[in-house]
Amino acid sequence: PKFVYDFTEGNKDLKDLLGGKGANLAEMTNLGLPVPPGFTITTEACKVYLASGNEPAQMREEVSAHLAALEERMGKRLGQADDPLLVSVRSGAKFSMPGMMDTVLNIGLSDASVAGLAAQAGDERFAWDSYRRLIQMFGKTVLGVDGDLFEEALEEAKRARGAASDVDLGAGELKELVAEFKTIVAKETGRDFPQDAREQMDLAIRAVFDSWNGERAKLYRRQERIPGDLGTAVNICSMVFGNLGPAAGSLGGGTGVAFTRDPASGQQGVYGDYLQNAQGEDVVAGIRNTVPLAELERIDKSSYDELLRIMETLETHYRDLCDIEFTIERGKLWMLQTRVGKRTAAAAFRIATQLVDQGLIDEAEALQRVTGAQLAQLMFPRFDEHAKTELLGRGIAASPGAAVGKAVFDSYTAVKWSRSGEKVILVRRETNPDDLNGMIAAEGILTSRGGKTSHAAVVARGMGKTCVCGAEELQVDTKQRHMTAADGTVVEEGDLISIDGSTGKVYLGEVPVVPSPVVEYFEGRTDPAAAGADELVRAVHRVMTYADSTRRLWVRANADNAEDAARARRFGAQGIGLCRTEHMFLGERRELVERLILADTDAEREEALGALLPLQKADFVELFEAMDGLPVTVRLLDPPLHEFLPDITDLSVRVALAEARHEPHENDLRLLQAVHKLHEQNPMLGLRGVRLGLVIPGLFAMQVRAIAEAAAERRAGGGDPRAEIMIPLVGTVQELEIVREEAERVVAGVEAATGTALGLALGTMIELPRAALTAGQIAEAAEFFSFGTNDLTQTVWGFSRDDVEASFFTAYLEKGIFGVSPFETIDKDGVGSLVRSAVEAGRATRPDLKLGVCGEHGGDPESVHFFHEAGLDYVSCSPFRVPVARLEAGRAAA
Ligand code: PEP
Ligand code: MG
Repeated sequence: PKFVYDFTEGNKDLKDLLGGKGANLAEMTNLGLPVPPGFTITTEACKVYLASGNEPAQMREEVSAHLAALEERMGKRLGQADDPLLVSVRSGAKFSMPGMMDTVLNIGLSDASVAGLAAQAGDERFAWDSYRRLIQMFGKTVLGVDGDLFEEALEEAKRARGAASDVDLGAGELKELVAEFKTIVAKETGRDFPQDAREQMDLAIRAVFDSWNGERAKLYRRQERIPGDLGTAVNICSMVFGNLGPAAGSLGGGTGVAFTRDPASGQQGVYGDYLQNAQGEDVVAGIRNTVPLAELERIDKSSYDELLRIMETLETHYRDLCDIEFTIERGKLWMLQTRVGKRTAAAAFRIATQLVDQGLIDEAEALQRVTGAQLAQLMFPRFDEHAKTELLGRGIAASPGAAVGKAVFDSYTAVKWSRSGEKVILVRRETNPDDLNGMIAAEGILTSRGGKTSHAAVVARGMGKTCVCGAEELQVDTKQRHMTAADGTVVEEGDLISIDGSTGKVYLGEVPVVPSPVVEYFEGRTDPAAAGADELVRAVHRVMTYADSTRRLWVRANADNAEDAARARRFGAQGIGLCRTEHMFLGERRELVERLILADTDAEREEALGALLPLQKADFVELFEAMDGLPVTVRLLDPPLHEFLPDITDLSVRVALAEARHEPHENDLRLLQAVHKLHEQNPMLGLRGVRLGLVIPGLFAMQVRAIAEAAAERRAGGGDPRAEIMIPLVGTVQELEIVREEAERVVAGVEAATGTALGLALGTMIELPRAALTAGQIAEAAEFFSFGTNDLTQTVWGFSRDDVEASFFTAYLEKGIFGVSPFETIDKDGVGSLVRSAVEAGRATRPDLKLGVCGEHGGDPESVHFFHEAGLDYVSCSPFRVPVARLEAGRAAA
């Protein structure tokens, strides 16, 4: 293979090979934009190096050839004493990893060539400052010298001179500093700073390769879910200098960053910062104050005009927002980098529709420019941006949302206070599984330590709770029950704080929360077509329209009551994919179920069922009404038994107390014996779903009757009920056949009694591996399948869905075993492969088999794409996720 590409040889589509920076430098070069000449060493070379510890032999020769060509072109040699060619050696992976890997500037300077540079530039101070920077950067990143040693020496030199900043140091002082830096290098590494320019370059290339596996880079990749085996490219680029003072009769220079539009709002205009008389690293380091880019017009009109022209060229060419790094050397503009720029969620929607209006992209492309995750972000309530706030500090935006509550510093207090109706924010240094109850009780979670994959972050995201983690400026003292901000402000237990999980900001006091305008739109409370409608709402509306007209998947909702169903319908749901009937038995009805489960005699059981029937029927009537004309899949009872029985410990205590006090306790005792009998070590693998239906006579028949009678009643009232009956936790077709026979008998009875043909479909969940593996047989008895990917994930992995997220998942995520919980995003290789084969086997048996999914994955962006590809007919998710699923289904089909 070829390991080195000149900038003239690459293009923007070669990011895998040339990294993002290299590919875009090549693209700009080929567009005829002013890019300093150079070449890129491929990620393939990096991979060989990382695997074997050596650069591929051929790479060295290719580098030599490309360097020779570069020298020829520039009319000077690397490190040439009287007029040195200087280069930068920059990392550049496929995905941007800002600041995570190494870069070395000014390669080619040495004791000999520093004088040549001074003479050519006519600026001795500049030459020595450049040499100083080289030794510092090279010493730190290539030779591994502690960077503080250089910083301290620099500070000392400034102090001695009474200088406020680097710029106040003259050539003489800088020359002394260079000598001192060289001593530091020699002392720390046992070798002299290399004087040979090619050796400098080769060592710098290696250092960049090595930095791919630096700790910072590895951590960043895990957090951003970037694969660890991609490697980085290395860009060798001839140096241009924004810190070169003006030559006689010409302008000076500087360096800056720019965006072709505002990355926060999407508005077109001149956005960016400029720093005069500086090199790129000075902007990033924030040492001196930048000026708004618009100022450049006054400073250097011709460079400014050229920059604007280039920005327009880039935007039209990339058909997207670009961000840019540029340098002006003595009045000559150079482009050092461009890429399609990051943007806020709101800007993503605005920009996508703006570009459609400009004719730069079509609607299908617009769908690719936004994501369901961005839409979800826009649906959270947020803090009123006009409110006056007092910022306490900032952490990592770990789980979005806006939460307000009283600060509490331990889980116990969180639970206690929330039980008495207080809203609390749980503040901890870091959380661990013991904090779980407190996290559940809290409005939001704030920690001073840990990153995006810390326990707090992972668990909070799983619970959909607002979380800010790693707010290191905040000193949390859980013993004293307070925290101290950097400015000395102390927050005591009980003081109100507000945390913003979308920005990571932490405020003192209560910041008012406003509903999301996007939710107001989905709720039908704002009209996107009205004059003066919010521009974001208008953009979201348009993108949703594209998605709906593109998608093949239908989107249904998981809803158990009329209110949720109605909301889901407003949000665009095309039916209910899962009504969990056990949710209809919680609260005061729980006792009826308890009576049913514990019934000893047929009469007791009949009585319990008789009491449940009218309640169930009324529920279904409401639900069918809310979803009139749309399918409603009602799942028969599937409670893990322990959720419906009294707690065994509580009950034992009650019985023991009553015994001790010689109080009557026969009922409790009978209950306790029954609970003991039914107690299971693994309720999730126990008597639930279809098993319960087969064991408790009359239970499923009662539910089916309630569904059928409710449907008949709606029909009689002129409605259009479309009920589907779904059997949970089936493992074999025999189970389904037994239930089916009974259900058909009951339905036939209701149809005869009411004189109405109900057309009820009967199907099953596929949520056990055996069901998936025998899907061909099961399809004989099922008119539809709905994949229950929660239980399927639990049983395929052998992970308890109720326990793992709080126990060892953090460790798994940190170790990179998976980048995301398989309960959140479908495990394509394992669970997904069972889904695929079940789809195929099911359809082979019954070509018109309807197929859907109703596990949590139905609302997860990546999983929606998988279900589209797997050929399902619909996904079903919680009402709030319906818009996200609609959008992602559209993106999958576009
Ligand atoms: C499932 O297992 O994916 C499912 C939807 O059922 P439940 O979550 O109610 O077990
Ligand atoms: Mg299930």
